Formats: sequence, structure tokens, C-alpha cells
Amino acid sequence: MDKSRQKQLTLWLKAQRYLAKRWLNLSVILGTGSALAILLQAYCLAELLQLALIDHHPLSQLYPWLAMLMGCFILRAVLHYLREKVGVKAGEVLRIAIRQVIVDRLETLGPVWVASRPVGSWTTLLHEQIEKMHDYYARYLPQMTLAAVIPLLILITLYPINWAAATILLLTAPLIPLFMAMVGMGAADANRRNFAALARLSGDFLDRLRGLDTLRLFNRRQPEEQAIAETSEQFRLRTMEVLRIAFLSSAVLEFFASVSIAIVAVYYGFSYLGVFHFGSYHGTVTLFAGFIALILAPEFFQPLRDLGSFYHAKAQAAGAADEIEAFLSQTEKLLPTLPEQPTLLPRGTALTIEARDWIIYSIEGVHLVGPLNFRLDVGQRVAIVGPSGSGKSTLLNALLGFLPYKGSLLINGHELNTLIRQDWLERVSWVGQHPRLLSCSVAENISAQGTLSQEALQTIVEQTGIDEFIDRLAQGLATEVSEESTNLSVGQAQRIAVARALAKQGDLLLLDEPTASLDRHHEQRVMQSLQMASHQQMTVMVTHQLDQLTNWPVIMVMEAGKIVQTGDYTTLAAEAGLFQRMISHRSGEIE
Ligand code: ADP
Ligand code: MG
Repeated sequence: MDKSRQKQLTLWLKAQRYLAKRWLNLSVILGTGSALAILLQAYCLAELLQLALIDHHPLSQLYPWLAMLMGCFILRAVLHYLREKVGVKAGEVLRIAIRQVIVDRLETLGPVWVASRPVGSWTTLLHEQIEKMHDYYARYLPQMTLAAVIPLLILITLYPINWAAATILLLTAPLIPLFMAMVGMGAADANRRNFAALARLSGDFLDRLRGLDTLRLFNRRQPEEQAIAETSEQFRLRTMEVLRIAFLSSAVLEFFASVSIAIVAVYYGFSYLGVFHFGSYHGTVTLFAGFIALILAPEFFQPLRDLGSFYHAKAQAAGAADEIEAFLSQTEKLLPTLPEQPTLLPRGTALTIEARDWIIYSIEGVHLVGPLNFRLDVGQRVAIVGPSGSGKSTLLNALLGFLPYKGSLLINGHELNTLIRQDWLERVSWVGQHPRLLSCSVAENISAQGTLSQEALQTIVEQTGIDEFIDRLAQGLATEVSEESTNLSVGQAQRIAVARALAKQGDLLLLDEPTASLDRHHEQRVMQSLQMASHQQMTVMVTHQLDQLTNWPVIMVMEAGKIVQTGDYTTLAAEAGLFQRMISHRSGEIE
């Protein structure tokens, strides 16, 4: 990471501060309060000793000072506790806010774009990277302010008491940030290397875990084990490098702090011996003056020490921010322009769809499909067939509104990209090739809002063939679907997904090879229910099951992003062309 990027990231991290401004300010206020408590405590302690040892006051006169001292102890503990809490809260608020920004961005970009990157990269971005920013906001950032405020407060207290001691502290203080910065430059680099090694290690490990079967099959166990061992060793070395620098930097800090405190102590020693005659404003140097300076000297360096120990938080946050900032700035350009005057389709109106020179692009702007021209009337049923890669799924994704287009796609006369997306999606039911269920009960998966009556639910369950396996599950429809639906077979999950689409009763039913993962028997059963359901609203179905299409009024045949044939089964079967070849080769099923 070069210097200018590092600077840019530090600025970016600081700019996010406004997301939790109140908590961060509160943390600084509590820290300052805690510093004031330390000052008061030092004052009480020094005054007590002065009164007891030098001025020989009776014990009874010392009680108020003792009480105040105790009060300071308690106050400090309370403030410290509150500060810790507030810091954690600030970090939490910021993490949630940044996560929300990313999730919002992903939602705007849509599922097609999200699917173009491996799932792992999103979990890393949303979870690990953001977690790593916590300490920066919870500790480092408030400490930065305190590292300036607290030493200043101490100097303000000490100068009126003894200018010599205060000046010693003032002069030695800048040495620490200077040397720390020199060490810190190396630390940032080491940290970056450590991050890279960790990313490589986890990436390698995940890849190998995924390909475990293949590795075993090809007897690659030993070499892979060795490779993992090597990457782990790399990571260990990098971690040690970071630790070495971290220890070095704290050693530097301790050294200069000790030297500075020692000089203050030596100054007072010689003053009490009568060798030095400067520093005090009243001629003699009192025990009080010496004591308070020596109590406060370590406190003077403490905020810097704390800052040093949180330094890794900064390097870590910068490393994490690298990817987050890059993601946000790169996707900025890809965001769809929102319609200036969004149209609201009145609900419940039957739909017509018309494509005129409709050209579909990927979000990055690559031409995928088109130009297409077609018209779908109210309640029309259309099947789309074609070899894989011909653009069928792309067409459905574009109908859902997830892909940019040129030309025109009119829904009841309104341009698709002027519709409010959420509103449009609520009217569409969709089943994809890969069923994705939520981890809640089967019944909740089918009818998310629970709006379906018991009988209607039962009918859909029977229609889709869910009843065949549901009785074998321990709790029937109340069975919880596990994460990634591992407790169901793909075919079972697919049937639930179909049932969910039917239960939604949208105005447009989009089916993308809904029976792709079913066996022959279930395929026919589900197809039957879909055939039935397709009469209730406009339906666009992508399928490879050509023999099921005999009673579909319109079949569109796609090839290489174009519609090459349109017609019903008999017409197309009689026409020389792709459809005829597909039937005779049954290539649809082979693919
Ligand atoms: P089908 O569903 O007919 O099998 P798809 O619609 O999934 O085909 O894909 C059509 C073509 O578009 C394929 O060649 C695919 O590689 C390409 N494609 C799909 N999405 C993208 C994308 N985001 N960027 C670039 N090419 C894409
Ligand atoms: Mg497809």
C-alpha cells in the first residue's frame, strides 16, 4: 500500500466519524473528565503528604482530604467504566452504519451483480473487514484527541506550581511521537504484509476445503498439506514481524518516558538538597510541589502509551478500509440512475409487456442479449427455450429489473426502469434454477407473511408434491429449514420454492428452469401444477423439457442472445430450424 493510498484511507476512516459523532464526543468528554479526576487525585495526595509530614497537622484535619481522595478513586473507576462502554458503543454504531451502507449498495446493484462475485468475498467484506474497524473507532480515534488534551491539562496544572518540572516534561514529550512515528512507518508495512498473508492463507484453505473430494480422488493430499503448511509458516513469520515492531515501539516509548520522569526526579532531588534554586515561584521548593509533579509525570505520558498500544488498531482499520473503500468507490459508477418521476402501477391491473428493440446489458455495460421485439398480452403464457448460454436467464433477470437496458420495455405502457423496483418485485413471482430457502419453517418459507389460509396452504402443498415428503419430516410443515437448506434434498427445496412462488400470487410468474433439479416423476408433478398455475396470470417459463410444451400457445426459441423462432409447438416442430433440431436431438435434456 503506497503512502498516498494510506493517507486516502486514513481520511476516509476519519470521514466516517460523523456516523457516530455523538458517541465519539462523549468518549472524549469522559476521557477528559477522567484526566481531571487524576489531577484532583494527585493534588489531594500531595496536599495530604505536605500537611501530614511537613506541616504536622493532626489527623483529624486530614479527614476531608482523605475523603476527597477516596472520592477521586471512585470517580475515576466510574468514568473509566463509562468510557469503555461508550467506546464500544461508538464502534458498534459505526460498524452497523458502514455495514448498512454496503448492504444498501448491494441491494441497489441487485442480485445479478452480487452473484458475479464469490459468496466468500461478501462475507469477508461485510463481516471480517468491518469487525476489524471496531477498535479504531472504539479506542484509537478518541485516544488521539485525549493524547493531546490530557498532557496539556497536566502542563496547565504544573506550570503555576513549578515551571522547571513542567518545562522538562514539555521538552521531552515531542521526542516520543517522533521516535514512535519512525517505528510506526515500518509497522504499517509489516501489518499490510501480515494482512496479505492472512488473506492468502484463508483463501487457500477455503479453496482446498471446497475441493476436498477432488483432491482425495486425485491423491493430492501430501502436496496440498505441504502447501498449507508453507502458507501457515509465512503467516507466522509475518505475525512475528508485526509483534517485533510492536514491542520495539513500546520499548522506545517506555525508554523516553522513564528518562523524562527520571530527570524530573533528579531536578527535585537537587532542589531539596539546595543545589538548584530555580523553578519555584516562592523561593523554596515544597514537598507538595515535588510530589504532585512526580505523580503526574507518568500520567503525562500515559495517553501516548495508550495511543501506542492502540496503534495496531489503526493499521488494521486501514487494511480493512482498503477493500471497503475500493468497493464503494468502484461500484459508485455502476449505480443505476433512479427514475426522476417513478411511475406507480395500480395494483391488481392485468399486465401487458412489450419489448421494442430491447437490448440488455450487464451491469458493467457488456452487451448480453438483444435487440428483442415481442409483445405479451394479458394472461399470456410464454415458454422460452434454447441452448444454455443463449440468454434465457438474462432475459428473466432483465424482466425483474436487475439489469440495465437500452431500447424499450413497456409494462402496461410504462418504461420498466421508471417503475419503483420494490413495487414491481412485489408483483412478480419467480422461481430460479437454484432454490434458496430461508432458515425458518417450511410453512413460513411458502407463505412468508402467513397470509395464506390453512386450506390454501394445503392445496399448494399437494399441488407441488411437497406432501410426499413432508410427512417423513419430524415436524411436518413446521420443520425448520436449516441454513443453505442442508436438511432437504435439492429436489425437495425446489418444490418448496415453487410452492412459495405459487403462494405469492403475483401478476407475473417467471420460471427459470424450475424443474431442473427434479427427477422425472417429480418433474412431471411440479410441471403439472405449474401448468395449472400458469393460467392464472401472465407466465414466462424457461425450460428444457420440450415435451411438456405441446399445449403452450407461444414458444420463443433463443440462440446467442436473439429470438430466432416464435410459434406454438406444432408450428415450430414442422418448421426447419433450431427447435426442430432440438426435438430430434433431445439436446435440451443432454445439456
Ligand atoms: P442461459 O440462461 O440461456 O443458459 P444466461 O442468460 O445465463 O444463459 O447467459 C447468457 C450469456 O451471457 C452467457 O454467454 C453468459 O456467459 C453471459 N453472461 C451472463 N451474465 C453475464 C455478466 N454479468 N457479464 C458478462 N457476461 C454474462
Ligand atoms: Mg439459465
